[in-house]
Amino acid sequence: MGFLQRTHACGALRAEHAGQQVALNGWAHKVRDLGGLCFVDMRDRTGLVQLFLDPAQFKNLAEIRNETCLSVTGEVRVRAEGTKNPKMPTGDIELLVTGYTVLGPSKPIPFPISDEEQMQSVNEELRIKHRYLDLRRPSMYQKLAIRAAVIRRMRSFLDSRSFIETETPLFTKSTPEGARDYLVAYRLEPGKWYALPQSPQQYKQLLMVAGIERYYQIAKCFRDESQRADRQPEFTQLDLEMSFVTQEDVLEVAEGLLREVINGTIDEFGLDKAHVEPFVRLTYDESMMLYGCDKPDLRFGLKLFDITPAVANSGFGVFKAAAESGALIRGVRYPGGSGLSRKEVGVLEDFSKEFGAKGMASIAVLTEADPEARQIGDKYVKSSIAKFFSDEELAQILHLSEAEPGDLLCFIADEYTAGNNVLYRLRNEIGDRCGLRDPKVLNFCWIVDFPLVEWNATDARWDAVHHPFTGPKEEDLLYIDSDPARIRADCYDVVCNGLEMASGSIRIHRPDIQAKVFQLLGIDEKTQRERFGHILDAFSFGAPPHGGIAPGIDRLIMTLTDTDNIREVIAFPKTGGGYDPMMDAPSTVDPQQWAELGLRLSQ
Ligand code: ASP
Repeated sequence: MGFLQRTHACGALRAEHAGQQVALNGWAHKVRDLGGLCFVDMRDRTGLVQLFLDPAQFKNLAEIRNETCLSVTGEVRVRAEGTKNPKMPTGDIELLVTGYTVLGPSKPIPFPISDEEQMQSVNEELRIKHRYLDLRRPSMYQKLAIRAAVIRRMRSFLDSRSFIETETPLFTKSTPEGARDYLVAYRLEPGKWYALPQSPQQYKQLLMVAGIERYYQIAKCFRDESQRADRQPEFTQLDLEMSFVTQEDVLEVAEGLLREVINGTIDEFGLDKAHVEPFVRLTYDESMMLYGCDKPDLRFGLKLFDITPAVANSGFGVFKAAAESGALIRGVRYPGGSGLSRKEVGVLEDFSKEFGAKGMASIAVLTEADPEARQIGDKYVKSSIAKFFSDEELAQILHLSEAEPGDLLCFIADEYTAGNNVLYRLRNEIGDRCGLRDPKVLNFCWIVDFPLVEWNATDARWDAVHHPFTGPKEEDLLYIDSDPARIRADCYDVVCNGLEMASGSIRIHRPDIQAKVFQLLGIDEKTQRERFGHILDAFSFGAPPHGGIAPGIDRLIMTLTDTDNIREVIAFPKTGGGYDPMMDAPSTVDPQQWAELGLRLSQ
């Protein structure tokens, strides 16, 4: 079927085109039959324009239904006053259609593409099953366009700084990043498998040994781990690596890149966000102490505080016993929380228990005197536990927590790590409740000086905090045998609004140190040779000092487009469990394919 190629994009027509004959291609976004008058909002990727089709001229208008693919010709005319639509960029005009061709008829669609509000409640699996329709929605197109712009800007930033974009294989050998591998059976030698890369980590380091000096890649990474709203089995990173650099050099390039890319994209799309400011820098220890986690949301203050010294010898048995057992009594302020009812405080306590707290105690700091409150200095405190404390102890608590009138002081008594686990969530919850997590603000920070390893009590071994190729700080190397927990690494994360956006490190480039770290991680010499012989060998041929980082592209787009669902920013995502309902993948394969691979199910 022939069709007229477009002269204009739907979204581009304005009053200045009035009187012109134009041809448009696109889809019937919304068909409205107003008692014999037929209006169609026609859509292409640039936007919508209203068509007017005269039923007296066209006898078969019923063939145009929502999502029919069309070619139309007609004359642009200015709409009559009172019928203009100021909400549409093309709302001053319409197209008086003189001819049309149906290019692709459409069956009734499974969900209302043209109604954004109704789309919010459509089953997500159904949307993914018909992703080619879901992506027709302007809001989905916009996300893909932003994604493309971010990647284009990344490339241009790095290309202009002498980075070489280099592809690395997808069929490879396991590179540990802490997840399970996806495996691909090797037909020529049944029983042998490729692993899909969890990241191009080893290849990029080998490229440094190869003298590439500055590498990057828009890299697909594959990790078989439990699915969450912000995880997909395959995801995309901007992977980069540099030679002859210190941590400072990598931080400078990565921060420069992220700020330029994000601020440029905000401007290009007119996104309702403030420009990204220079990143604040915190050490891992500071971040854990002040915010209870290594991914703090710094859009708001509310630092955690520690009242252990004030209450360790108090008359409150719970705190006293906790302090005696080595636990800490720490807390977070809830501005405005002093007005919460007992029941509402109970909800907060249940929230804390959900994340492992044994309980949550609280003290309300009132805004004015109250018969049930105790006056401490210029403040009034009210709490069922206040009676256990002396005035001095309460004054200390108010001082250490930097309490303000109107606060509810929430306390968790627990061992440091377990306490952090609750407190950081409680702090974020309070931030949400107080409206302090403004989506217009993108607050980026660096977390530096991570520990090299952490103790895995379940398997009784040391695990790499980042990955096994991360370089220990030279001055901490002496603890490698005596006290590995004390070794800090030249390892850094970028965090934005409480989400980890990138991880990187200065790498080990000496084979003896790499072997020693492998050993610490419980990888014996034989296994080292089998799994990592190539990298140990490469390091013995003049390896340069090097380091890098890998910002997650999906996460970045999520932040820019205000979604906490990673599937929204990927053209063809998997549902939970890694299933693709559109292609029906994974699926069974022919018996012959099993046979060729020498495989058989054991049950
Ligand atoms: N390969 C690391 C990761 O995927 C990033 C890096 O160290 O550059 O987290």
